Amino acid sequence: EYPPEKDILGEKPRIGVFSCRCYPTMDGIVDIDTLIDKSSQFPHVVHTADIGYGCFPDGLQQIKDAIQEHNLNRVVVAACSHRTHESLFQKTVREAGLNSYLMEMVNIRGFAAWVHAHQPEKATRNGLELIRVGVGRAAELEPIYKDSIPPHQRALVLGGGVSGMTAALSIADSGFDVVLVEREEYLGGNLHKVHYLVEGENPNKLLRDLVNRIIAHEHITVMTRTELLEHDGHVGAYHAVLRHRDGTQSDISHGVTIVATGGQESRVDHYMLGEHPSVITQLELEDKLAFHIGDVTDLKQVVMIQCVKPKEETYEYCSRICCISTIKNAIRLKTINPNCQVTVLYKDIITYGFREQYYTEARDRGVIFARYDDTHTPVVNSDNGQIIVSMHEQMLDRELILTPDLLVLSTSIQPSQGTKELAKLLKVPISNEGFFLEAHIKMRPMDFMEEGIFICGIAHYPKFIEESISQASATAGRAITILSKKPFHFGGTVAVVDPNKCVGCLTCMRTCPFEIPRVTDEFTGVGELGGAAYIEPTLCHGCGTCTAECPANAIQLLNYKDNQIMVPDFPILGSWVEL
Ligand code: SF4
Ligand code: SF4
Repeated sequence: EYPPEKDILGEKPRIGVFSCRCYPTMDGIVDIDTLIDKSSQFPHVVHTADIGYGCFPDGLQQIKDAIQEHNLNRVVVAACSHRTHESLFQKTVREAGLNSYLMEMVNIRGFAAWVHAHQPEKATRNGLELIRVGVGRAAELEPIYKDSIPPHQRALVLGGGVSGMTAALSIADSGFDVVLVEREEYLGGNLHKVHYLVEGENPNKLLRDLVNRIIAHEHITVMTRTELLEHDGHVGAYHAVLRHRDGTQSDISHGVTIVATGGQESRVDHYMLGEHPSVITQLELEDKLAFHIGDVTDLKQVVMIQCVKPKEETYEYCSRICCISTIKNAIRLKTINPNCQVTVLYKDIITYGFREQYYTEARDRGVIFARYDDTHTPVVNSDNGQIIVSMHEQMLDRELILTPDLLVLSTSIQPSQGTKELAKLLKVPISNEGFFLEAHIKMRPMDFMEEGIFICGIAHYPKFIEESISQASATAGRAITILSKKPFHFGGTVAVVDPNKCVGCLTCMRTCPFEIPRVTDEFTGVGELGGAAYIEPTLCHGCGTCTAECPANAIQLLNYKDNQIMVPDFPILGSWVEL
């Protein structure tokens, strides 16, 4: 529970400047004492303080105490990254009774200390300038009030493979309802095709455990032979129409959506796959090694070709799991049939994680690895039913002719069929490789830019089983942060249209990267024009693109209004303070 908010309307700015030291990332490069001393001379600043390690409890308490003691109505924190620490300092000022948007953060670590790491004077001067601009902005800050809704405390999980099932179970175990949608007849996805792992574990046991737990779970509703038909709404309040294979439909309301639609082994139409009965894929070999051992016990020679991709797949990427699948099957084949000569033709063997030992084991068992490059890819022919593989071996610099009984292709992993259509339906992006694209590879690897829609498993990129499980668990955690909010707040730094200025030119609709603005006749534009733009605050990401592009200056980004950026008394450029 926060204390009641102080009404600052009509008050003159009383600004407190708090500088973090964060030795040695800032202090030692930037002269913090000078910053504190000089900041006290800026207009409206009534208090300055050194808060040591600002994000530690002592530093935060110092800010709260100073707000009370000096009756501050604006705060500037000179510290580190907004992305990592802004919410903490916003919460701190709110706990002291100020609206959280009355805090301005200045990143002197990133923009002063680090950019002038070996120029302390310049770092200090730059830091002071950043604080000066921050103080100017702080004087113009206004309280912003967020709206709230009670979120639908239900998750929609698309895809019933290992990732989807793991995410569904994690959410359901936390007490929230889950609708788990699977296109096929059975849950399990690719786990049905993986029969053993190179590490020795049995994935079928994992499959059975997951499916049994899903079926028995009171919070999970499973819909197989079902696909997503429509999806709209916003975080906390989505609505989906699901189409079942029998032609019926059902509607669900949910707060979050998780995309776990997986991927698939690609099919190629070269290297005689589909033409010659002795040319198969790694998954087909795995099936033989698991269930039809008689098919492999008499083989004299097997050739495996790595990095095989469909001709239409023009974008180069590594499918990550193929090398280890090949090594796994080669070891198994050598275990069953030690006299069989196994040759792996590769461009680059990559055994991700700690799997290098299995490559060594395969070599110890006599598996031969021969390297080709893109200019000399293997050539496959057939002579009277005998497969002939020829290639230029890079290390030996000579032609190699092989006559295998069985040719096994390691084909690339592709996104599931229908990924593009699903991305369009959910309005989320896909990568150059065709997989779903996360919001940020390091900071938000489970999120889409659209809040409330998350991703996990091979739908994101080819992954090993344990990686899919880890990501699915993390994704469930992200989803639970929304489902558990009662109520769910939205708004804050979002764009707002003044319909009285809007000329209905559609520029904002064209420029918004998230396709949020719409021109609607629910509003009247400038000069009684029928129709004006509207931006749904629950959907807006606050990127500011439309604000900058609107020719009528009809859009303002809250917390970054024109008067908060172009502060007349604090020209942002060209008026350096003297040290
Ligand atoms: S760009 Fe500006 S003027 Fe044009 S429709 Fe959008 S809000 Fe209206
Ligand atoms: S601020 Fe960004 S996300 Fe929001 S409506 Fe404008 S362009 Fe779209």
